[in-house]
Amino acid sequence: ATATDAEADNGRVAIVGGGLAGSLLALSLARQGVGVDVYERRPDPRLGGDAGGRSINLGLSKRGIQALTEVGLIDEVMPLSVTMRGRVIHSPDGGTRFQPYGKNGGEVLHSIDRNELNRLLLDHAQRHPQVRLHFDHRLAHVDKDRRELELESNGERVRVRPSWVVGADGAFSRARQEMQRGERADFQQEYLEWGYKELSLSALPDGGSQIELEALHVWPRLHGLFVSHPNRDGSHTLTLFLPFEGPDSFATTTGEAEVKALFDKYFPDLVPLLPNLVDDWMSHPTGSLTTIRTGRWHRDDWIVLVGDACHAVYPFYGQGMNSAFEDCSALMAALARHGQNRAAAFAAYEQSRRPHTDTLAELSKANFVELKQKVKSPWFVARKRLDVALNRFLPKTWLPLYTMIAHTTIPYGDALARAHRQERFLAGSAVGLAGAIGVGAWLWLA
Ligand code: FAD
Repeated sequence: ATATDAEADNGRVAIVGGGLAGSLLALSLARQGVGVDVYERRPDPRLGGDAGGRSINLGLSKRGIQALTEVGLIDEVMPLSVTMRGRVIHSPDGGTRFQPYGKNGGEVLHSIDRNELNRLLLDHAQRHPQVRLHFDHRLAHVDKDRRELELESNGERVRVRPSWVVGADGAFSRARQEMQRGERADFQQEYLEWGYKELSLSALPDGGSQIELEALHVWPRLHGLFVSHPNRDGSHTLTLFLPFEGPDSFATTTGEAEVKALFDKYFPDLVPLLPNLVDDWMSHPTGSLTTIRTGRWHRDDWIVLVGDACHAVYPFYGQGMNSAFEDCSALMAALARHGQNRAAAFAAYEQSRRPHTDTLAELSKANFVELKQKVKSPWFVARKRLDVALNRFLPKTWLPLYTMIAHTTIPYGDALARAHRQERFLAGSAVGLAGAIGVGAWLWLA
């Protein structure tokens, strides 16, 4: 590999990673008149299909909607999505139950194809004269002292010297590794002992859907969990979460017979809906899921992280992209507040976000248990109904935790603290009510 001389990119910002957060942030900065170079490892996803990409569908909710609204894109994004009004829970006997997301039609999620959204964001970023997109450019090394990035492109090494840098290169961020090398940085990574595989449930020949279209479908089983997001063409993208190892795991489900046996045992109602099950199983990769907590998210006034690069979470609360988009808004707001003092802006951004994304990591873990186990328990369903009823009577004071996370922009940590206060109030009221009934009964008997 040959190294070209460092190019002095006066005043231009380098964004490493042209995924969801990187492309949105490029647009946000460009709208403020900042010149941006986006360096993306992959080829341009808008040419020749989804290069190596999987058709992951994501649930877009309030925080993501807010960030897309700020850059004026929400009206173009919404037509690409399918509204999800609630969850349909599928029990092993084939029965279904619908759990609405909220008391009124406004509390909905939007299912969107990750690749389609990424292409739209890249298109808009590219139309902006301030933005240059560099595909097939992989960040290889960061020289913090010289403030240079070394990228690898088609076997060549390219050095650039941007004014400052954003690491938006996902959970296994090279920017983060390079930035934190030799620093007093905290880093914690956990892998879930379950992995995931995507399968597709095709539409009916007339374009209709085989299952309710406008819903997130969940097949909760202690041993495996299926979640499906709808697509505009009537098909659904199914994601199976299953243990990596042990009986009935990804490790043991390798041949046609094992795949069929697994589905007959845990998801018999899905078998007639998935005629291509075995082929899909064999040809689709198995992915792993990771949680990452780290600090610091920036170094001086030169490099800062956003999205999965600084806080990857399990996907069970559907907040990874939403929180990554929220980071972009928070970073832009901090930069606006601190004017020329970029180091202060980066520090304020990290301080305002990190406690909340750490909370999100915990919530996302807890929702794994909720989705695979609790959603079918009568106690859980009754508790959810009580939440919805209290929210109806006291709409300003009582907000269920899920509502706060998915349908508001209340910071994650504040939402959890408020949910705990509500729980304590409910427990106190229950004790008080039981006491009053006891005293009443005693008086009556006396
Ligand atoms: P990414 O989208 O990972 O983008 C990083 C980009 O950086 C990529 O384009 C990559 O090619 C590039 N890159 C990597 N290394 C380099 C390098 N060295 N040099 C240059 N470029 C590089 N989130 C939700 O909000 N709702 C959901 O419903 C949801 N469901 C999910 C389901 C599953 C199964 C999974 C796995 C995730 C889900 N997520 C969901 C999470 C969401 O996908 C991520 O949080 C989101 O993609 C993070 O965006 P990002 O831009 O930070 O990172």
